[in-house]
Amino acid sequence: MSHQGYVATPPYSQAKPGMGGYPAGFSSATSQPHYGHYGGTAQPYSAAQTGPLKPLSSPHGSSMSVGHPPPAPGQFGQTSLQNGIYNPGNQMSSHATPPPHGGQTPPTQSHGSKSQANYQNTAPPVFTQHVSNQLGAMQISNYGSAQAHPSSTPSPCGPPLQPSFQGSEPQQLLSSIPPPAAQGLSVPPGVPSATVPPGMVPPPPPVGMPVGHSGPSQGNASYQQVPGQPSMTAYLPQHGGMYGVQQRGIQPNYPGAYPGAPATGAQLAGPQQKKLDPDSIPSPIQVIEEDKVRRSGQLFVSNTKGQIPPLVTTNCVVQDQGNASPRFIRCTTYCFPSTADIAKQSQIPLAAVIKPFALLPPNEAPICVVSHGESGPIRCNRCKAYMCPLMQFIEGGRRYQCGFCSCINEVPPFYFQHLDHMGRRLDHYDKPELSLGSYEFIATLDYCKNSKPPNPPAFIFMIDVSYSNIRNGCVKLICEELKNLLDKLPREDHAAISAIRVGFVTYNKVLHFYNLKSSLAQPQMLVVSDVGEMFVPLLDGFLVNVQESRPVINNLLDQIPEMFGDTSESETVFAPVIQAGLEAVKAAECSGKLFIFHSSLPTAEAPGKLKNRDDRKLVNTDKEKVLFQPQSNFYEALAKECVANSCCVDVFLFPNQYVDVATMGIVPMSTGGSLYKYNNFQIQTDAEHFLNDLRKDIQKPVGFDAIMRVRTNTGFRATDFLGSMYMNNTTDVEVAAIDCDKAITVEFKHDDKLSEENGALIQCALLYTNVAGHRRLRIHNLALNCSSQHADLYKSCETDALINFFAKSAYRAILSQPLKTVREILVNQTAHILACYRKNCASPSSAGQLILPEAMKLLPVYMNCLLKSYVLLGSSDLPTDERAFQRLLVTSMDVVSTQSFFYPRLLPIHKMDVNSEEIPAAVRCSEERLADGGIFLLENGINMFLWLGLNSQPELIQSIFNVPSFAHINTDLTSLPELDNPYSKKIRSIIANLRNQNPYSMKLIILKQKDKSEGIFRQLLVEDKGLHGGASYMDFLCYVHKEIRQLLT
Ligand SMILES: [Zn+2]
Repeated sequence: MSHQGYVATPPYSQAKPGMGGYPAGFSSATSQPHYGHYGGTAQPYSAAQTGPLKPLSSPHGSSMSVGHPPPAPGQFGQTSLQNGIYNPGNQMSSHATPPPHGGQTPPTQSHGSKSQANYQNTAPPVFTQHVSNQLGAMQISNYGSAQAHPSSTPSPCGPPLQPSFQGSEPQQLLSSIPPPAAQGLSVPPGVPSATVPPGMVPPPPPVGMPVGHSGPSQGNASYQQVPGQPSMTAYLPQHGGMYGVQQRGIQPNYPGAYPGAPATGAQLAGPQQKKLDPDSIPSPIQVIEEDKVRRSGQLFVSNTKGQIPPLVTTNCVVQDQGNASPRFIRCTTYCFPSTADIAKQSQIPLAAVIKPFALLPPNEAPICVVSHGESGPIRCNRCKAYMCPLMQFIEGGRRYQCGFCSCINEVPPFYFQHLDHMGRRLDHYDKPELSLGSYEFIATLDYCKNSKPPNPPAFIFMIDVSYSNIRNGCVKLICEELKNLLDKLPREDHAAISAIRVGFVTYNKVLHFYNLKSSLAQPQMLVVSDVGEMFVPLLDGFLVNVQESRPVINNLLDQIPEMFGDTSESETVFAPVIQAGLEAVKAAECSGKLFIFHSSLPTAEAPGKLKNRDDRKLVNTDKEKVLFQPQSNFYEALAKECVANSCCVDVFLFPNQYVDVATMGIVPMSTGGSLYKYNNFQIQTDAEHFLNDLRKDIQKPVGFDAIMRVRTNTGFRATDFLGSMYMNNTTDVEVAAIDCDKAITVEFKHDDKLSEENGALIQCALLYTNVAGHRRLRIHNLALNCSSQHADLYKSCETDALINFFAKSAYRAILSQPLKTVREILVNQTAHILACYRKNCASPSSAGQLILPEAMKLLPVYMNCLLKSYVLLGSSDLPTDERAFQRLLVTSMDVVSTQSFFYPRLLPIHKMDVNSEEIPAAVRCSEERLADGGIFLLENGINMFLWLGLNSQPELIQSIFNVPSFAHINTDLTSLPELDNPYSKKIRSIIANLRNQNPYSMKLIILKQKDKSEGIFRQLLVEDKGLHGGASYMDFLCYVHKEIRQLLT
């Protein structure tokens, strides 16, 4: 209960010389270091008025009444275009892309020197800086002497993975893997080294394939694979529909005949003695379920430093008693190494994934708001940290010592309070800022742009009314829905109505603005056809109050689909649309959010015009990175201006072909916005999916015009930031808006020693404007442990957070590095982390044993999932836009989302208990967990599939689909019929819950076993070898094990 423990007592270490010169942070806003730094964009509106804004009679614009009758009704919903994530026709044709193998391009940069560079302010700002710093976090170097492992030295005798869990080491997983016989090392009894049948030479490991498993041949038929094409057998033969057996065929190199092997092979119809039991390697499902059993439903009280929270997959109730809830901050480890040396040896990234506006469940206390009066929040004079439980009151309460920089500060007279016998203020529990990990301060004018209180934000809806969006019914759908959603705009707690003002624009090659003044009987349209220099042709009447202008708005939304119903215009502009929204937000002197509903590649003559440059021939070349980079710098510059003017951009894409997501996503990505994509949108099948996204997006809690600063105590500091945001300098994270789903991942590096007594302290302060236009500071504090022992570090790790960090840094690294290099770095780092554990923490054991730290035993499987994600896969079968899209999505994800994205949830629906509230326990994502008679739901936060086995029970099919048999099921459905029986109700409630839990609503795709569209689904069975490449979990684990062994020799 006490905070004494981590408000450590003196002597404090001397503050770093640099700390004094630390920029003053938010308090300096009045001198405008954070605003207007993009070259005059933050001029007062009055000055801008004379420039870009033009009168209605401008030659560039024309004014007309909107009310003319529509010539033809809109046509939509007529197409029979195939819908889906992407064209599944491409799915089945390919096989493996070689996964990485170590050592070919060893990274040369030193861990230490890289982090040094990050501390400098001299690094080039803006996007290129991120690119150049890319791999700073991922360097592998300097671990022992084993920098490079020649991949051309395969073990002729592979390590049979032996699942001998040793009970003596509760924190370790021990799997005995005999070393390669060729290296003269011993072989465990029962696994003779001469298992290669005479006359049969084990094939050389395929290039790029995990080589650790190229073990003794078993004479297995599936062993006859062509080197370099290891996955040939992966999904091809499906004898008798038996799953599992054939799948094992791709891992023929693992002798199953090891001592003590569980006899699960007998369940398989194949030659069971050849199979390695997949249950012998760490199972994500088991880890998740065990954590649930241990901690589900429990109270997690955040009263001590370094507490390791339950896994993200475990439901618990958090009680804030001085440290921020894991809903707000999760760390890669809750015990930091005390020195840079230990950090460097272990290679474990030190990072926090911060989701400042995370939603709290109703049974947890909401965030408290604190006012410190006109002088603003109390802060340390030196490091500017905000008053928090980490400040230590001394001298009878007259002074306090800062927990971050040790500076002694005076307590302002109005804030004075006596101390009790424990040295704690008598009002400790009355003040959130003294007793809680998370709270908000009311910010004073010093924290406002130009020292003026902000105006409430604006929402501007910008609808592409070109042919494609009209024809597919999208425009009508949007207009109908907006009429409802305008009543549900976000508002401050307890406010009766939303303070947000709204505006509307439609566009194709030209832009149409609407005057919605409440005094008008009809909306007025103002057309801007000169898109070269965008301006807003009206000031008064563009942004309006929903209540006041409701009749005019409804009138407009009724008319838009009709007005453009007969359009033949197929070309669109894009950048001018953003510019128009930006100008409107600037003119209104407020922050804002643009909702852009866009259909196609913007090829019309205009700034930001794009060309189709999709070229999948670049995949797996050094130029592949180009596919993820924007076409030009134009959108980056535009994004920068949007951030400077706190204009956040959400883009909903409805493409029928390539639209260059890599370029069009730059602005949403950098402004804290969201990106949605609906390929080949069809109203019948996609409307629900899109509307769910739109409803969520508009109603989300969101903060505008935000700057985030992460402070730490002496000894380490935040050096790198990953997320949907913008960095104008090395310390301040800027976002035009940040919503409840967006997370920013922060990496830390040592710049000195950390003391075990003080621990590692983090304070994240986010200055923002709320939906009512009030300026607030949201503070999250977290105290972590420190130790000079590797074992403490390893046992305090959170693998889910590690994967979040690895994914975001790798996804950024591919902008500047070949994918192959990025994959190698990930694999090498995984091996280094685990080798360091083996070397420093594990008890002596045979070199052939794979030993994994308990808290990290899922690192190999999750890392392999990351390596075979679309983005890192390097397969030309995958649509470029889909890869770019997923790259952008992951960049803003929190730990919950990355966990399910990389290791999807596979639920055996046929086993659901209709009498229970619980959803059925997930099974491992592997083909062999499927059953012909089963029905499985699979979701990863973006895609959702209902897979139906060939022999699904007719009763269940009848209950769910209301058809008599498997053959009658219509797989074009994207929602299940609402039937009045317990099975139908249960499965629909499971699907609804999964959708609610995710930031993105997921379209339900129904798949029958052996349908050709099964491909996308198969790729998500992440423990298996991927259809488009990527090693199986088993192969990868063996490969990592081999790497570890090399590092240890
Ligand atoms: Zn301080």
